[in-house]
Amino acid sequence: MARYVRVKVKSALQRSGLPDLDYALNPYAGCLHGCLYCYAPLYTRYRDAAENWGQVVYIKENLVEVLEREVRSRRRGVVGVATITDPYQPVEREERLTRRAVEVLLRHGFHVSIQTKSDLVLRDLDLAEAHRGRVDVGLTVTTLDADTARLIEPAAPPPARRLRALREYSEAGVETWVFLGPVIPGINDGPESLEGVVEAAAEMGALLIYDYLRLKPGIAERLAAAGVSEETLRAASSRRWRRRVEETIRGLCVKHGALCSPAFQPKRVGRDLTSFLSGG
Ligand code: SF4
Repeated sequence: MARYVRVKVKSALQRSGLPDLDYALNPYAGCLHGCLYCYAPLYTRYRDAAENWGQVVYIKENLVEVLEREVRSRRRGVVGVATITDPYQPVEREERLTRRAVEVLLRHGFHVSIQTKSDLVLRDLDLAEAHRGRVDVGLTVTTLDADTARLIEPAAPPPARRLRALREYSEAGVETWVFLGPVIPGINDGPESLEGVVEAAAEMGALLIYDYLRLKPGIAERLAAAGVSEETLRAASSRRWRRRVEETIRGLCVKHGALCSPAFQPKRVGRDLTSFLSGG
């Protein structure tokens, strides 16, 4: 049974060290999607949420009021929503903290970069349409196979719903991207699995960003529930495996005409690289 804790915060925007992002905004701490590969608990300062990941969510109830004050004095830039937890996890349906924060940011001239696994993001399509050019939306899709997704991302909406949400954003003329990550040895690293996601991104004209499993403490143990041995998972840290996955993804991107980029690179690099590889 999920537990919710209301807290007050002193700040809303954090400086971000990620490429393309100037700030990070996380309306919630803790995430009910409960993905087995998640390493966000290591970066969560609420111990209760970190230690009971997938069961406890801290709701930053005064976030929007604090944000209203902060935006007046901050230099305009790109805000990642969210960088540690999913901003459209189930609690957002009632709380609407993400929606209200995005409204404030857009009203004050910031660019908003949203990443989620939930089609609840569709509820806020009107905001993106009204501020086209200042919003981009990324949906994480690790596999198109619903059973595999349920195994590794037990409480997140199934891949088909995520893709439908992304398609609607794309058709509305909003910049979109697919996050194919993490690629996990023995789970979603097969060519057919990768091709399904690449093809879907290409069909929508969405940039494909890919990333590999990071074997942070505790992750191998959790992924054991998906039936993958620690030995198999260890391949994720090997250069050979990463090179093979990267070559496969890049080949598929060229085959399907998808723009692609490794994670943690400016998105522009992916566009330039794909164009170069395809001779464009
Ligand atoms: S949706 Fe993201 S933050 Fe939430 S559990 Fe999954 S990986 Fe972690």
